[in-house]
Amino acid sequence: FCPDVNGSTAVLKFLSLPLFLASQQVGGVRSVTLPESLLFVSTLDGSLHAVSKQSGDIKWTLREDPIIQVPVYLTEPGFLPDPNDGSLYVLGGKHKEGLMKLPFTIPELVQSAPCRSSDGILYTGKKQDVWFVVDPETGEKQTSLTTSSSESICPNSPLLYIGRTEYMVTMFDTKTQELRWNATYNDYSAPPYDEKQDYKMAHLVSSGDGLVVTVDRETGDVLWSQNYGSPVVGVYLYSGDTLRHAPHLSLARETLRFLTFSSANDQADAYSSLKWSYQPTLYVGKLDSHLYASTSLVHQGVSLVPRGLTLARIEGPLTDGVTVRERGECEITPSTDVRYPPGSTNSRKNQWLLIGKSTNSSGLWILVVSKSDILYIWLILSFFFVTEGDSEEVLVGKISFTPSEVLGHGTAGTFVFRGRFDGRHVAVKRILPECFEVAEREVQLLRESDTHPNVIRYFCTERDRLFTYIAIELCPATLQQYVEDPSCFPELNPISLLEQTMCGLSHLHSLNIVHRDLKPRNILLSGPSVLGRVRALISDFGLCKKIPDGRSSFSLRSGIPGTEGWIAPEVLHETPGNKPTAAVDVFSAGCIFYYVVSRGQHPFGDALRRQVNILSGEYSLSHFMEDIHDDVIAQDLIEQMISAEAESRPPTACVLKHPFFWSPEKQLVFFQDVSDRIEKEPADSPIVVRLESAGRAVVRTNWRMHISVPLQTDLRRFRTYKGNSVRDLLRAMRNKKHHYHELPPEVQETLGELPEGFVSYFTSRFPRLLMHTHAALHICAHERLFHPYYLPPIHICPGHCSS
Ligand code: ADP
Ligand code: MG
Repeated sequence: FCPDVNGSTAVLKFLSLPLFLASQQVGGVRSVTLPESLLFVSTLDGSLHAVSKQSGDIKWTLREDPIIQVPVYLTEPGFLPDPNDGSLYVLGGKHKEGLMKLPFTIPELVQSAPCRSSDGILYTGKKQDVWFVVDPETGEKQTSLTTSSSESICPNSPLLYIGRTEYMVTMFDTKTQELRWNATYNDYSAPPYDEKQDYKMAHLVSSGDGLVVTVDRETGDVLWSQNYGSPVVGVYLYSGDTLRHAPHLSLARETLRFLTFSSANDQADAYSSLKWSYQPTLYVGKLDSHLYASTSLVHQGVSLVPRGLTLARIEGPLTDGVTVRERGECEITPSTDVRYPPGSTNSRKNQWLLIGKSTNSSGLWILVVSKSDILYIWLILSFFFVTEGDSEEVLVGKISFTPSEVLGHGTAGTFVFRGRFDGRHVAVKRILPECFEVAEREVQLLRESDTHPNVIRYFCTERDRLFTYIAIELCPATLQQYVEDPSCFPELNPISLLEQTMCGLSHLHSLNIVHRDLKPRNILLSGPSVLGRVRALISDFGLCKKIPDGRSSFSLRSGIPGTEGWIAPEVLHETPGNKPTAAVDVFSAGCIFYYVVSRGQHPFGDALRRQVNILSGEYSLSHFMEDIHDDVIAQDLIEQMISAEAESRPPTACVLKHPFFWSPEKQLVFFQDVSDRIEKEPADSPIVVRLESAGRAVVRTNWRMHISVPLQTDLRRFRTYKGNSVRDLLRAMRNKKHHYHELPPEVQETLGELPEGFVSYFTSRFPRLLMHTHAALHICAHERLFHPYYLPPIHICPGHCSS
């Protein structure tokens, strides 16, 4: 039996008080004051966890629709919502620079809809409120109250009322007459926590996973840390009979883990890095298959594009040109100085981030003050005792290292330090306990393969209470650092680095090891040897997989290996009959080849779109030019390597034979060998036919017209050279090379020195000559003479290597 009349009166009352409930007696039923002991943690997947304030343990969970729901496809321009407050970022379109924050949030759009923006988009909006009536003890939902349903309930215990609003927005493009985008954003009704009541805790949440670290604001102690499995978008407490927003601060996953999981022996290190500045960044994450954005602080050492997700550093393009017109022709012209990050422009005045040591010297504090962002967090992290010893060596078994000397950061909290093992300088990779298995596999596969000069050398493993430490060969740079700043190794030949990388990979594949995470940061450059030689080394065996004998593919049971933007399409499109093979590494290597040759570009575009483009097979090798010999050759190889079909990619041994790696000397000897080989062939022999077919483009109609005057004059003495024949061009090259020293000085001068100047004299004029000849002569691959230029035919090899 329910007190229905009074109950429904109460409902009406709640609806007219959208933000909070009054703590009064309603119709004889006392509305609830939630036990002070609970905190509410809202996560991106739509869960609202009621957790203990003391421990963070989940008491119960209310599961609702995800905080944001948007279409799975990424349109151009794409919109990325921020689940924390419904802000919108726009990606692409005319704003090619990156992400741009729009001057309105989803709720604001809904509020001003129907409206139309200056670029011809019609916005429609819908707002739907709901109250969840929940038993605070069990989390059991008694009922939901909406405008259309307000069932009365029969409370036999105090109840908790949680208001939530669903904002829906739809964009219709009048130019294309198509639906552009739609989104739903769910927001809990909660006024901000009253700053006057001083809140004892600070909640640090990590972007991209569900980690929450709660710190006592006065003592700086870490009270608890919990992982709620999905990114946290809001923390609330219940006060004055309503949910209230408790402040939380988002940090990069690495930054938060770094702060939390640093052991006693590297507190000093933590301290030194806390002195580094923190940067506001925009974190771009993925839920199911759509993207979202949220602000996040990172410390200086954080890689901005960690594995599996993207943390974009946004310098802040302007939001010019978008205006929203409200009904009634009132135009809202958004301020043109909206920039991201907030600190990057004039809004800087309003925001400080101060990092220092606390007065009682038992810890450190971070102070973030922002007038504009209601972001006010003050916390003391006293768990970092400063020992003044950040340059002191730490000894773990046979390995020692200096915590302040960080060489790099990896995924999942991995740190790499400079250290020592057995009297030599080494890199010490420190791996978190949750990655023990990965570390073990990494070491086992390194032991198996590190005898090769292009595989990082492994020395030893040690373990302490918390971590596994792996000592490996110390390297001064990664391939990425080299590409970003080649001046660190001015003498290096980038093609030779790629060749060495391929040799290392070929070695791994010959052992049935698939690397699965090739990318420029996982290829290291050794220090110069006594002879000054620098080697490229394949490193980071954390995702390596040994394929059992007799098999060639691997399954993806334990998840998708790799780093977004470098993953072969079949890894994400796996079908039962079509499992990924070692060709996944050739794909990533092809992207690396282009990255190196083009000095930092990627065939599949910028970091945010890469993986999507890989899946749809959309690439662009626009760095290459059609009429440049080196480009024609590089393009031929890279296109094969990044082919969407794994079977079309050349195996590593075949890649290594490609003219891409040939020195000018080898090119010249090849041309000469070919010319000798075909000299006596009749005009209708298969080799000559292949060589001459489509030869017109190779000789640019008549090669005699494209050579310099001294050489033309010299050749006029020999009437037998046909200007439209590839064979005759090769013969002329062969003869001029052969009689080089008998040539008149002006002809020698025009041809340049042997071999380099000479060969490029011809290849610069006939950029397709080498690739064309190489393809045509493939039918001679089995002949001994041609073994240096082709993989012997017992190898099954697609592309130009196959007949
Ligand atoms: P993860 O498996 O987490 O990706 P990595 O082995 O790739 O870890 O190491 C992370 C980073 O540390 C590298 O990108 C590089 O910058 C640095 N690093 C790793 N190994 C070495 C080394 N041997 N010498 C110097 N720096 C290294
Ligand atoms: Mg790595």
